[in-house]
Amino acid sequence: MAQAQPRVRVVFIAGTGRSGSTLLARLLGQADGVFTAGELRYLWRRGIVEGRLCGCHASVCACPVWSGVLDRLPAGLEEAARLDAELRRVIRGRRLPLLLLDAARRRSRRSSGEAQRELSALLTALADETGARWIVDSSKLPAYGQLLTTLPDVDVVVVHLVRDARAAAFSWQRWRELPDDAPQRWMQRQSAAKSASLWLFWNALAELLWRRRPDLAYLRLRYEDLIADPQAAVDAVLARCGEPAVGLPLTSDGRILLPLTHAVAGNPDRLGAGAIRFATDAEWQHSMRRRQRWLVSALTFPLLRHHGYALRHRRDHPRHSREHQHVRFRPRNRSLRLHARPRDPVPPS
Ligand SMILES: [Zn+2]
Repeated sequence: MAQAQPRVRVVFIAGTGRSGSTLLARLLGQADGVFTAGELRYLWRRGIVEGRLCGCHASVCACPVWSGVLDRLPAGLEEAARLDAELRRVIRGRRLPLLLLDAARRRSRRSSGEAQRELSALLTALADETGARWIVDSSKLPAYGQLLTTLPDVDVVVVHLVRDARAAAFSWQRWRELPDDAPQRWMQRQSAAKSASLWLFWNALAELLWRRRPDLAYLRLRYEDLIADPQAAVDAVLARCGEPAVGLPLTSDGRILLPLTHAVAGNPDRLGAGAIRFATDAEWQHSMRRRQRWLVSALTFPLLRHHGYALRHRRDHPRHSREHQHVRFRPRNRSLRLHARPRDPVPPS
């Protein structure tokens, strides 16, 4: 008798951009049997159509892991653009009213046809190729996550990662160079108003969609708590997955050593390796314009309070002037930075 196909298990990191999902995914990847896949919703477009780099610094098609995964897929590379378009069409189609209806029903009953088959095949191939018990997908987008939770052969644990909306908005305004052979030179930036609006809707949706669903596990984690005690945060996620705790590789000066991953898309920090110092990210408290700070606070109240963030902060920690991830980024290929396109806008100094 043929053996039943094992179910694929996914840790889906939900939330909004600039919330630390790349860092959390890399930390989880330290556990045995856990594979950090990056933002899987971008595999086709960024990884294959645009030819961007994997976290291991090889192009996705040349990466030993992803090339093996792609070989297992029936569609093949030629189909990448069409599959990306189909996935985006389905995600776009899941607009707010329909997602809220799903939340009311506590599950989605809509079939998404080819997009479901495409995602199922990808996750199965990824689990087979890596042998991982859990795949960490840090795609964050609620509509994509809802699609993920409708796959019949996939178990999902949702980790809802929340960061202070003011810190996220401040991070969205930074100029950060993309080192992964992207067609554009700089990471996307958002205005404070747009960042706050996305923060409000995506975080509200994540709770509405998954917090009370009986058929999947949901864990809410604050980025600030992750930074304060990464070991406890990682252990909590692994416990929710039924996996044993893992000792994070600490250095003698309290930093955590992280190796390269095969994360396929996400924050440029996924291309870094080395020691990460975890420190309070307080730069926004003294460098963010007062008007923007209050705009974000006003737009995201009362969800800010719901997640335990104070509306007012004293500007008393100027020495914490860097963001959390002090990754020593050493590209193997020194030409990485030379691929930047000169037509892009020059950031303010
Ligand atoms: Zn790779």
